[in-house]
Amino acid sequence: MKAMVLHNVRTPLIFERRPLPMPGAGEMRVAVEACAVCRTDLHVVDGDLPHPRLPVIPGHEIVGRVDALGSGVRGRELGERVGIPWLGHTCGRCPYCVSGRENLCDEPLFTGYTRDGGFASHVIADAAYCFSMPDDGDPVSLAPLLCAGVIGWRSLVAAGSGMRIGIYGFGAAAHIIAQVCIRQGRLIFAFTRPGDGAAQEFARSLGAVWAGGSDETPPKRLDAAIIFAPVGDLVPVALRAVRKGGRVVCGGIHMSDIPGFPYQLLWEERQIVSVANLTRQDAFDFLAIVPEAQIRTQTKHYPLEAANEALDDLRSGRLQGAAVLVP
Ligand SMILES: [Zn+2]
Ligand SMILES: [Zn+2]
Repeated sequence: MKAMVLHNVRTPLIFERRPLPMPGAGEMRVAVEACAVCRTDLHVVDGDLPHPRLPVIPGHEIVGRVDALGSGVRGRELGERVGIPWLGHTCGRCPYCVSGRENLCDEPLFTGYTRDGGFASHVIADAAYCFSMPDDGDPVSLAPLLCAGVIGWRSLVAAGSGMRIGIYGFGAAAHIIAQVCIRQGRLIFAFTRPGDGAAQEFARSLGAVWAGGSDETPPKRLDAAIIFAPVGDLVPVALRAVRKGGRVVCGGIHMSDIPGFPYQLLWEERQIVSVANLTRQDAFDFLAIVPEAQIRTQTKHYPLEAANEALDDLRSGRLQGAAVLVP
């Protein structure tokens, strides 16, 4: 198999050829058709997240075909298309797992972080954490749904049912969730890096009623704001933009420090909440609405060997939509 491997954080991924791995009990091997590049991959590579298992193959938005089945796997067939997300395994016994919050499991494994992921031609996955994917869709278009889509969905659910939704950081997750909101009849206010006219135009082209820089005040108070950009400075900015009782959802796995701010911004029952990981139910719920919401993902695809270039493009904010690797 071919893989792009992280040996040490803050160093480029290295191309390697390895023997094909064999799936263990309850696992399957999947031949990767496409793997999207998530900001979390960047945080793994850049050393922002503690204790990655090194060396590791990053990548957790994987679409591929079942290539080999381990013992005890039921309900899957060779050649079937599946999706593999960030949540790679949970213990099933801890207080979080038994109360429907497996996203907070005490002993989890995460794809592309603490187990090998999809920046490769093949990947081994726990079969219980894979999802059926449409057989006829384009794998490059489907791949970003598995994290940008699912975590974006969890963030949107956390934001509540308000009409006016602000999104700070208009990247892969935002461009999917904006489409969901608009189909639900809600209004999207898109905040980009100040002066990024191209990103603002992109947001408007997807149906945002307003797009501007994160330093701008929206024309109306927001019911909720979701922050996808890894920028702690945006927390007080977003609090200032939401109405009384409004909520600010931090959707990323890592953020720069949040600066001090006057209590006045939080008062009147505004809330700040974070979203961590996903449950399998999040993925079932989100993937079920994808066909009717007619979500179109904007992607730029790269050969597997260009994974470092894709990561650089994401880091520099040059991308619109999602980067996707094709082995
Ligand atoms: Zn658990
Ligand atoms: Zn992700």
